[in-house]
Amino acid sequence: MPMERATALVLRTTDWSETSRIATLWTRELGKVRVLAKGGRRLGSSFDSALDLLTVCGIVLIRKTSGGLDLLTEAQVVRRFARLREDLSALYAAYYVAELLADWTEDLDPHPDLFDQALTTLDALATVGSDVPLETMRFEMVFLGEMGYRPVLDRCATCQRRATGAVAPAFSAEAGGILCPVCRSGHRDQREVSVEGWRFLVDLDRPGSEWREPRRAEGRAEVRRLLGDYLTALRGRPPRLLPYLLA
Ligand SMILES: [Zn+2]
Repeated sequence: MPMERATALVLRTTDWSETSRIATLWTRELGKVRVLAKGGRRLGSSFDSALDLLTVCGIVLIRKTSGGLDLLTEAQVVRRFARLREDLSALYAAYYVAELLADWTEDLDPHPDLFDQALTTLDALATVGSDVPLETMRFEMVFLGEMGYRPVLDRCATCQRRATGAVAPAFSAEAGGILCPVCRSGHRDQREVSVEGWRFLVDLDRPGSEWREPRRAEGRAEVRRLLGDYLTALRGRPPRLLPYLLA
């Protein structure tokens, strides 16, 4: 049976039997995998505490060739984000990152860039004095792009007319981005976006560091709501951790 090595972030674990656990892991090499860790509940097992939530570990697994769970044979802690436990808002944001990865990605569909970005975000969240809501919104934007839902922000998502910023655009999850004044009436879920909120979204979507620039509380709250509503509309239900996020 094929044996594989990977770097994994622990997204979820459930007890399976008296001694074993099932873990959902987000790996850089293989994407999401669900593994059975035999003896994973025993104190002093070979997995030690490597299967704690949000731990990054180096793993070895045996791939099942015909259905069933892969078997985890080794898990060594590479790093932990211990400081998350000291700040509840950062911990909720980190759980939110794990929830998005667990719920939206398919098994065995790797996204190495998203893996790296998730670790960068968790690292930032675990840093004292970091801007937790801002780091979370940045991750959501990167995540949406990786999942194929990058919102259209530079032009009307319907007629392609370029946005100038002179007029406040509308946003529609259904259209997948902003709408010009002419097209907005064609989408029932459209809502107004302030020019400030729109510019903030554009910066969150850019590769540079403009997204770190200071924003007014109103603009942050608006973008926080919009991103949450967009993710909710795409998925058909709100992420469980969404109500715990701050703006
Ligand atoms: Zn239009």
